[in-house]
Amino acid sequence: MVLRIGHRHYRDHRISTHCGLVARVLGASGIIYSGEKDEALLGSIEKITARWGGPFGCRYDPAWKKFVKKWKADGGKVIHLTMYGLRVQDKIEEIKNDSSDLLIIVGGEKVPWDAYELADWNIAVTNQPHSEIAALAIILEKINDSALETVFDGARIRIEPCKKGKKYIGIKMPRKNGDAIL
Ligand code: SAM
Repeated sequence: MVLRIGHRHYRDHRISTHCGLVARVLGASGIIYSGEKDEALLGSIEKITARWGGPFGCRYDPAWKKFVKKWKADGGKVIHLTMYGLRVQDKIEEIKNDSSDLLIIVGGEKVPWDAYELADWNIAVTNQPHSEIAALAIILEKINDSALETVFDGARIRIEPCKKGKKYIGIKMPRKNGDAIL
């Protein structure tokens, strides 16, 4: 699960949407947004999941600290992505050997100190300023060896890989009355 904190309406729309896209495509179970409420953001991710498959959860939660505390109380562990953290390449084996459910916190413009305190691991994808989208993609791929093989259920469309050009395949969805739609 991914938690994107500090979302700002309009200014962060694209970055936060892309955090959701990366989380979904690389096998996270869902994304929770905190900060300013943004229905359009939730709608964008829900539309992608409806069309391209899931399962992938997406919701807004204004009380992210409470959510993180509950996650930990339920036995989950927390990774906070920050350029000030320990190097991902030094900690990845420890993280992979831990069987707890993982929550990955991605910060926004200003990250409250609580994120550092609540984290089991403060992890840096290089100790340089980085894109949160790219940092999230890298850690998801490092945590999950089959991230690039994530399978999506209930898709209405998929792409047939081809050397040149574009090939989409519409997947027929049975309707309740027995007809089929693309
Ligand atoms: N000024 C913020 C702070 O207080 O740390 C950082 C803002 S940065 C634009 C937004 C987010 O990108 C960070 O909270 C972090 O999650 C992620 N990020 C940036 N550089 C990173 C790095 N080198 N490694 C891991 N995550 C990084």
